[in-house]
Amino acid sequence: MNAQTAKKIEMTNDFFSADVSQTDPELFGYIQAEHERQQNQIELIASENIVSRAVMQVQGSVATNKYAEGLPGKRYYEGCEFVDKMEQAAIDRLCKLFGCKFANVQPHSGASANIAVYYALCENDDLIMGLSLDQGGHLTHGSLVNFSGRQSWRGKDGQSENKGYKTLSYGINEQGVIDYDVLEKQALEACPRMIIAGASAYPRAFDFKRFREICDKVAAKSGKPCYLFADVAHYAGLIVAGLYPNPFPHAHVVTSTTHKTLRGPRGGVIMTNDEALAKKFDFAVFPGLQGGPLEHVIAAKAVAFGECLKPEWKIYVQAVLDNARILADTLKNGGYDIVSGGTDSHMILVDLRSKGLFGKEATHSLEMAGLTTNKNSVPGDKSPLNPSGIRIGTPAGTTRGFGPAEWKTIGGFIMEVLEGLKANGPEGNGKVEQGVKAKVKALCAQFPIYQHSMG
Ligand SMILES: *Cc1c(COP(=O)(O)O)cnc(C)c1O
Repeated sequence: MNAQTAKKIEMTNDFFSADVSQTDPELFGYIQAEHERQQNQIELIASENIVSRAVMQVQGSVATNKYAEGLPGKRYYEGCEFVDKMEQAAIDRLCKLFGCKFANVQPHSGASANIAVYYALCENDDLIMGLSLDQGGHLTHGSLVNFSGRQSWRGKDGQSENKGYKTLSYGINEQGVIDYDVLEKQALEACPRMIIAGASAYPRAFDFKRFREICDKVAAKSGKPCYLFADVAHYAGLIVAGLYPNPFPHAHVVTSTTHKTLRGPRGGVIMTNDEALAKKFDFAVFPGLQGGPLEHVIAAKAVAFGECLKPEWKIYVQAVLDNARILADTLKNGGYDIVSGGTDSHMILVDLRSKGLFGKEATHSLEMAGLTTNKNSVPGDKSPLNPSGIRIGTPAGTTRGFGPAEWKTIGGFIMEVLEGLKANGPEGNGKVEQGVKAKVKALCAQFPIYQHSMG
């Protein structure tokens, strides 16, 4: 670099002070529009939440600049004094919340955490058993389109042609709950290496103790380990409030997302009480699968876990649960079928078959009215591609401050849109949608979220 260009860079340097609204109006505009969308609609997607300003600030902090491959105190780069403290705080707070001994807070997402668990514990050809995707399970629980469901198979010569796992799914019964006797029978016949307890669309409590008993029986029968892997991505926030069953001490390994009911930045975590397994998970995350950890996100995870350790957390989660029950009752009283008759968690599944509606048209019409949900399969659905249910969750709305009265109102909005849809059809419901949308916007105006889009 010659002296002339060096001077030029110095003179134009508002790099550390210019606002993105000035430097990149296009992207700033998109962020502002997204902020407005979040302000003016009611977020009912069960996997979403609204983080505190503190979480957003830390995620947008200088920690983003730091490379820190390795673990606190054992890094490959210098300069990690303070990111070590951030990451250690995240680990310690998480272990305290779950009452477990070891945690890795580096997985970039829930899916990454799960992949690391398979990578650490399963060999080529091992059988893994999870709740089927169309009955509430997650893609990473052995779905054929996911890494976890990459099947191993051999050519006629007996040589391994494709390295992967073998998968088997368990399901729910007609009442929409897991039948543990059926699960046990299935597991004892197939002797899997791992059973996954967890779901993305299962409103009821998991019996982790029973799961572990089944794993132990499988291990005794086969003479090989059978791991209980609890994926509590959806339930973590409820668990750490003590208001949903804790997979510890039953599970060998527990993973979670940090952005659903935990209300932190987007990310994943892995936890265990077993030191030997903990080492395997650390090694699987790095150097096995990931490069440098996202220390700004890890620091924001620590902030979110700190929020969960405060007494207010239990009050928030109790409100999430109360509100889910109020919404379920409101819809039931309005003649809607709720899968399994209710909920033990933050989510409810509405079965629309008796209304003659499909999930896709229902969620689309609700979205047009400012009510954001997702379509979902329900027990006995004919096609998983065209499901007859919708999944609704209360975490985000409760964070905003919606209480019992608002949730009854929201239940009314939902039914107004769906009754309109039934009467008018998907093409003719625009007037109803517009009417509800105006009421949604007015309600939302009373419950503002962030003043600033950028934290
Ligand atoms: C959401 C979810 C995940 C994946 O989390 P991502 O952060 O989206 O990768 C994994 N397992 C379950 C049960 C989930 O609900």
